Amino acid sequence: MKAPTRRGRYVPLPERLGPGRPEPESYGYVILGAGCAGLSLCHYLLERGVESPILILDRKETFADDRTWCFWDVEETPFSGRAVRRWNSWSVRAEGREVVHTSRRYPYLCLTGADFYEDALAKISSHDNVTVRLGEDVRSCKELDDGVLVVTSAGSYLARSVFDGRGLPPDSAALADARRGGTWISQQFLGWRLRAGRPVFDPGTCTLMDFAVDQGRGLRFAYVLPFDEHEALVENVYLTESGAPPGTHRAELSGYLHDRYGLSAEDYEVHGEEWGDIPMTAHRFPRRIGARTHVIGTLGGETRPSTGYTFLRVQRYCRALAASLTGSGADPGRVHPWRYGPLDRVFLRLLRERPEDCPGIYARMFAGTPPDPLVRFLTEGSSYLDDARLIGALPKIPFLRLAAGEAIDRARESL
Ligand SMILES: Cc1cc2nc3c(=O)[nH]c(=O)nc-3n(C[C@H](O)[C@H](O)[C@H](O)COP(=O)(O)OP(=O)(O)OC[C@H]3O[C@@H](n4cnc5c(N)ncnc54)[C@H](O)[C@@H]3O)c2cc1C
Repeated sequence: MKAPTRRGRYVPLPERLGPGRPEPESYGYVILGAGCAGLSLCHYLLERGVESPILILDRKETFADDRTWCFWDVEETPFSGRAVRRWNSWSVRAEGREVVHTSRRYPYLCLTGADFYEDALAKISSHDNVTVRLGEDVRSCKELDDGVLVVTSAGSYLARSVFDGRGLPPDSAALADARRGGTWISQQFLGWRLRAGRPVFDPGTCTLMDFAVDQGRGLRFAYVLPFDEHEALVENVYLTESGAPPGTHRAELSGYLHDRYGLSAEDYEVHGEEWGDIPMTAHRFPRRIGARTHVIGTLGGETRPSTGYTFLRVQRYCRALAASLTGSGADPGRVHPWRYGPLDRVFLRLLRERPEDCPGIYARMFAGTPPDPLVRFLTEGSSYLDDARLIGALPKIPFLRLAAGEAIDRARESL
């Protein structure tokens, strides 16, 4: 495994991918956004043998180490080999107790943004039909008889098919639609990559949710990824509608480091900061907005509504989409099993309507469900027996009330 101290670097665009070659009259595929979904889809298309020209457009100027992806290692992805860390144990802390889960089968894996971008770009650049144009803000896409016209701040391009993977920023029109139409909550967080002067972290166990923090502003927890005894990514997370300003997050992070690890500001150095505002919603985002325009990634609704996890779902959907486009796979719309939808909506209601009960309920869920079934549930790969175990660990009366509320709302919507 690589040392986490490589964090924070910028990843250069490989020369072969730069806009040096003659511009074709039309591209086979234009991908909007060189983020997680855009780069992943491009990789899967190439893996399927696509040889027509592919163009990826992004408004950013560089690939920064702007996020850290974690997910359970339940299946192979092309990028998992670049993980900087795998934890076999994780914990949830609430109501004065700590529940620790250990799984030899499904480690919790951590991939840095920089490593993902570097790996994806290296894979893509081994083909000679891809161009990446950075610093181009996509302004519009218009479907014509013979293709799609994509207009950016720097020019226009014709494509046979377009994939919109421009993400879902908090001020986007798509998100405003989702908020108007249904249950949603925001997973807002600020994290520090830091190095402590003393060995305070237990690198064997990461902390998924530590609710032993002040809950005065709304449902809040700390998330700790310890890379070794000195280095960690520590995040302050809100699951509310409004979150908190960055200054509040920073003050709460330093308070947490003090209270849990006895660290004062002079005891650690902050090497980087991460900010996220992930919408968790049951809204059904359109997968297609035209005969030739597909939507991928968070903009296509890839975030799991009840947890905020997105990375694995993006991989599954993009892989299936590439297979269906190249005529060798089934409908990608079926890649996420439908039966998690109702449970996700009930969990969302819990987060919105009974936030004060959540710490206890999560602790109970972890304490009462064995690690492997719980991981399979969290990654949408559970059996009915796994689901029954999880449901058995939840308090019945509140969940029945939430489920009834959900059923009534859905019946009203369908009138
Ligand atoms: C800090 C952070 C940590 C996260 N951690 C996890 C995690 O641990 N596990 C997990 O499962 N999920 C995590 N997520 C959620 C999710 O996996 C990521 O947000 C993921 O990057 C979403 O992929 P995407 O392709 O939809 O969007 P992005 O990766 O954000 O890509 C969108 C791209 O579109 C570009 N773009 C936007 N507008 C335009 C425009 N007008 N013109 C051109 N380009 C444009 C952007 O510059 C960007 O490069 C995290 C998110 C954040 C922000």
